[in-house]
Amino acid sequence: MSVPIGNEPSHLCCCEYVNRKGERSHLLACLCDCEDIDLAFDNCINCNKVQSNTMRNISATIADRCRIPWCGGRGAIQVRLDVIFPIIMVPSCILLGSIGPVMTIVALVSMPFLMFLFYRIWRRHHTQVRTKFFSSWANTSIIFSYFVFQTFVVAFRKILLWEFLLFFTALLALFYVLYLTKKNPGFLKFGHADQETPTVEDPQSWRPNSKWIESLKNSDKNWNDVYLNGDAKIQIDANGENHSISSSQYNMTNNCVNESMAPMIPMELVTWVDSRPIEGHYLITWCGFCNLQRPPRTGHCYVCNSCIGVRDHHCVWIDNCIGANNHRPFLVSMILFIFCGIYGSHLTLTTVCTPEIYYNWILWPNDCRFLYSDFQTSISFVTACYVIASTSIILLAFVQQILFISQNVTSQELHRATMNGKSCIGLYAYNNVHNRGLRKNWMEFIFKPSRSISPKIPV
Ligand SMILES: [Zn+2]
Ligand SMILES: [Zn+2]
Repeated sequence: MSVPIGNEPSHLCCCEYVNRKGERSHLLACLCDCEDIDLAFDNCINCNKVQSNTMRNISATIADRCRIPWCGGRGAIQVRLDVIFPIIMVPSCILLGSIGPVMTIVALVSMPFLMFLFYRIWRRHHTQVRTKFFSSWANTSIIFSYFVFQTFVVAFRKILLWEFLLFFTALLALFYVLYLTKKNPGFLKFGHADQETPTVEDPQSWRPNSKWIESLKNSDKNWNDVYLNGDAKIQIDANGENHSISSSQYNMTNNCVNESMAPMIPMELVTWVDSRPIEGHYLITWCGFCNLQRPPRTGHCYVCNSCIGVRDHHCVWIDNCIGANNHRPFLVSMILFIFCGIYGSHLTLTTVCTPEIYYNWILWPNDCRFLYSDFQTSISFVTACYVIASTSIILLAFVQQILFISQNVTSQELHRATMNGKSCIGLYAYNNVHNRGLRKNWMEFIFKPSRSISPKIPV
């Protein structure tokens, strides 16, 4: 039975918790005291329609009551359904798949369908943008696959010590690089609302309009001269008048301090690849969420709720944005994942099948007649199939990354270019001002702290 609590919750035992209504409740009360379930049953018995609101409340109550006892005085901790579902589903599907060849196909094909079906249903009842569903799926897959490899494949005693050490070292390196990738991707903190903002005497006069843009087009100055001209950050010739703005009205990164000063460029002038959105026929350089002017190559992530410099994309599998600071470790983590996937599944398949040596050095599985002869062999084989399928998907994503880095374009820039009809089948961006040739692009990606912004982009 739930009892209301005061403002200060007292010490909770391991099976108690504070429910979503702010009442003190007990795990043993999880199957009773739900008015919404009573209402839904009443409606069903009376052949009345169950309101979607009632279903949403039932779902929220179930999610609130999924808890496990926990010591420490803070009571039972909530088990999030989006986290727990992959932890149950991945091992269950692989175990089912180890029954026989037909079940292997059924389990491995239905697993992604069931996962995405759950995600769709879960999404319908949860409005928060951030979810640990995909990272839980990825982590469970890696940990469970390694558990099977260690428990069942290594037990065959056909793997050499150096082979195991190579695989294990690569796996440790993968976790370390993932840890580096999870760090700050390059959040832009400047220009936030909590920062002291200098006053602008007549901000409206600095808002570019079509006349202003027209004067730029007709002037002999190029964009760079206009925007980065010594101390005065902007000098504009409009209607014969020379306007300038002092550097005190700018923050340290040459960005405007409020929205009214942020330039808006008419879309017909935006011939370059840009990661920022075009709305109402203008390139929008101001982020209303972060309250800052977005430099070129910046993107706002609605999951991280922040602008990120040289943003590539938000990777749901590690639940982190990929940007200026972590793109390199992200690429290395993909290489290590692919290596571990291919090498681990090769070691497994050459162990569970009788291998044959080709060209004196390639060991390849040859006789695979006894894959389902015992549980140890079958679960190793099904896990290897699952790993091969996952690795193939990562391999495609890796090839895509190689293609993008080779032309020095981010996924976000290419996405915008595709939306504006400025890309070739979504893989090659036209008019990419950052592209300085294959070798220079890779040298910059590998050795420079961050990828540069072409001066050909004015704002
Ligand atoms: Zn933003
Ligand atoms: Zn993000």
